[in-house]
Amino acid sequence: MTRILQYYIDRHARRTIKKINSKLRRLVLCIFKQKYIEEQEKTRYGDCFQCGKCCSLLYKCPFLEGPQWNTRCAIYDKGRPKQCQAFPIDPQDLHDVDFLCGYYFDAEVRMSPVKNEQVVSGHIL
Ligand code: SF4
Ligand code: SF4
Repeated sequence: MTRILQYYIDRHARRTIKKINSKLRRLVLCIFKQKYIEEQEKTRYGDCFQCGKCCSLLYKCPFLEGPQWNTRCAIYDKGRPKQCQAFPIDPQDLHDVDFLCGYYFDAEVRMSPVKNEQVVSGHIL
């Protein structure tokens, strides 16, 4: 029983640390690697449908409004932070939202292991 409990505590701790690392990574990239952000934006397709998944990583952003099935950002067009505008910077960020995002990347299409079908962000086209 103790081992099972320890397993879940460890797993939760690992996930929390990963989310902290991801947030820090995005912050650092947005501050110091503007060129990389711009290059990545050229390979990013799709659109944000304001599902709020990236707004609830680690904690729920205070600007996220509405019920879970109809969320929206209160400052979406009024100067939301650069990290928000840049999300997802690359496929690593998509991993943080379980690839459930309106955006996808060039590389994901090219690297699809599924034969004769294109896969974008986990969806078969
Ligand atoms: S996870 Fe993707 S679609 Fe959802 S709010 Fe973030 S950027 Fe927009
Ligand atoms: S400011 Fe808006 S886009 Fe950024 S995390 Fe908060 S709700 Fe999401």
